[in-house]
Amino acid sequence: VGGGVIGCEFACILAAMGSQVTVVEALERLLPLPSVDEDCSKVLLREFKKRKIKVLLGHTVRSAEQTQDKITIKAVPVGDGGGEQVLNADKMLVCIGRLPTSGLGLSKVGALRDRRGWVVADDQLRTTAPDVFAIGDILGPEKIMLAHVASVEGIAAAENAMGAQRSLRYDAVPSAIFTIPEVATVGLSEAQAKERGIEVGRATVLFRVIGKAQVMGELAGEAKIVYENCSGRVLGVHLIGPHAADLIAEAALAVTHGLTVSQVADTIHAHPTLAEIMGEAAMKAAGRALHG
Ligand SMILES: Cc1cc2nc3c(=O)[nH]c(=O)nc-3n(C[C@H](O)[C@H](O)[C@H](O)COP(=O)(O)OP(=O)(O)OC[C@H]3O[C@@H](n4cnc5c(N)ncnc54)[C@H](O)[C@@H]3O)c2cc1C
Repeated sequence: VGGGVIGCEFACILAAMGSQVTVVEALERLLPLPSVDEDCSKVLLREFKKRKIKVLLGHTVRSAEQTQDKITIKAVPVGDGGGEQVLNADKMLVCIGRLPTSGLGLSKVGALRDRRGWVVADDQLRTTAPDVFAIGDILGPEKIMLAHVASVEGIAAAENAMGAQRSLRYDAVPSAIFTIPEVATVGLSEAQAKERGIEVGRATVLFRVIGKAQVMGELAGEAKIVYENCSGRVLGVHLIGPHAADLIAEAALAVTHGLTVSQVADTIHAHPTLAEIMGEAAMKAAGRALHG
């Protein structure tokens, strides 16, 4: 239940081990996170079909009833119309939402939580309690609930507790999703950039044009660069394909330091490597498409 990051990762793991998997997702796409570009969701859905993972988009689970060693799950379409779907399963994994830890006694020291229970902290990780810093998932989704974010926050909080004034920025946090194939993103999606009124350009290159992907036989997927039209500045990169989680590092560098598509295109990428897809996508964005 849930076609977000964890639901999709576990669908791939279980399907790879031979289980028949059905993913039920309330929204109209897999990985319906604002930071994940819709094109990645489309490619992932196609790959799920190839792997015989069934996907029920736009459905919510209304009931789940355990009978001996089976579970009967009833899923209904979100909104009006459409019939109920009945699924029979051996197990149901629930992959929706995370709640803040309670009972820490934070209010006793004056550390406030927001209305959903996440601890309030400024961008230097100071809570509303003097000398109390907070890091990690307890800060909630606005500060991005990922392991590497918690880790960086921990270092910054320790430095700030010792007198430093280090502020964290959350606009260039890479995110890696371990589906098959992997998905990795950093920065703005095309939709997010447009919502901010930015005139965006986009360039997409398929992994199949990359020699190393051909050698590895891992052809599914693509790289998409979203950039500001007037300056060429890289706003976001969205990868789905082999080793996307490793390849996003270069994109994180580009977004963090405001590099332009020409600067990425002028960077020499070793051959034959999957990293060439970043060079190809940047060249395409800069109007110098080579293989893509
Ligand atoms: C299934 C799953 C997959 C994930 N995959 C990834 C991934 O691939 N990459 C990634 O970057 N992030 C991933 N995440 C997110 C990542 O795990 C979290 O962002 C990260 O663990 C946050 O670290 P944290 O220290 O804030 O919290 P946690 O790692 O949750 O640590 C909090 C600890 O505090 C303990 N605790 C709670 N209450 C108390 C108490 N009252 N007293 C003492 N101890 C207490 C808990 O038992 C826990 O050990 C995943 C999360 C899930 C659920």
